[in-house]
Amino acid sequence: MPKIYDMLVLGGGPGGYTAALYAARAGQSVLVIEKLSAGGQMATTEQVDNYPGFAEGIDGFELGERMQQTAERFGAETVLASASAVKLDGPIKEIVTDEGTFQGKTVVLATGASPRLLGLPGEQALRSHGMAYCAACDGMFFRGKTVAVIGGGNSAVGEALTLSKLAQKVYLIHRRDSLRADQVYTKPLEAADNIEIIWNKRPIELLHDTHITGLRLEDTQTGAQTELACDGVFAAIGRVPETALFQGVLELDAQGYIQADETTRTSLPGVFAVGDVRTKPLRQIITAAADGAVAAHFADHYLATQAP
Ligand code: NAP
Repeated sequence: MPKIYDMLVLGGGPGGYTAALYAARAGQSVLVIEKLSAGGQMATTEQVDNYPGFAEGIDGFELGERMQQTAERFGAETVLASASAVKLDGPIKEIVTDEGTFQGKTVVLATGASPRLLGLPGEQALRSHGMAYCAACDGMFFRGKTVAVIGGGNSAVGEALTLSKLAQKVYLIHRRDSLRADQVYTKPLEAADNIEIIWNKRPIELLHDTHITGLRLEDTQTGAQTELACDGVFAAIGRVPETALFQGVLELDAQGYIQADETTRTSLPGVFAVGDVRTKPLRQIITAAADGAVAAHFADHYLATQAP
């Protein structure tokens, strides 16, 4: 007979591993199903300064590993596997993966979100050939080179600042004439002398041979087109939730996030959504971790109300 876990957690980021920690610590059997490595999106952040308890900050990858180890200290298990289907109704839920099908009485969905694509022709093919989405991951390939960052939010400014320490020149290209990033990000921007902001422009074409060579930009006010030479393009225009597996299964909002309130309960009993994948006003490591604790609480409550 295959094991039926009290809780299956899909996704090993801060939300997933906090749910696993709280549930395992409450005596439940827990399996975390993670595609790559602990930490999720956080693992690609070089320096996390806004998670309390680390006076000098901490590397996101290390914080992810520590969260995994903490949950595993109380008996949570991890399997590295990629999910291809879910069955979330009924008392026994199933997650089908390339490592087999796992069963659980409750499920915590913590699949997070991934970078929004620019939507330009050739974008996918140029990944690893100049097109990038994470400065902490790929910035080192552009040491001494010229790069363009697209976007005007906290992520775009953060990416530009990270890249300014590696690249010779960084263009920050924004489609409007003011940034939406917080002051804590924009202040250091003024001090970085190798970052140039290009206002009111959006990329309309990736120029390339086998590798990116530049961008064709369109002025969002006049429609005029210009070319900008660069060796790499980093898109930082927001994220999209990883919810393809849940379409038609759970209620999603118009942007594709799983509908769940502060209890993390979804439209199906015994199924919870935590972190960046659920509808929420602030997507941060700490709010994902908080969701994990809340999900474990309500999962425990749900199990207590089920017939034995
Ligand atoms: P965001 O705040 O939604 O910003 C996305 C940016 O990309 C906006 O400036 C937007 O322009 C631009 N954009 C969107 N679609 C575009 C397109 N097709 N072409 C060109 N530009 C486009 O996303 P984010 O920066 O990834 O941040 C997401 C959330 O995480 C936010 O709540 C943010 O505060 C948070 N965050 C926090 C931290 C931190 O505090 N440590 C770090 C990173 C992110 P418009 O301005 O014109 O809409």
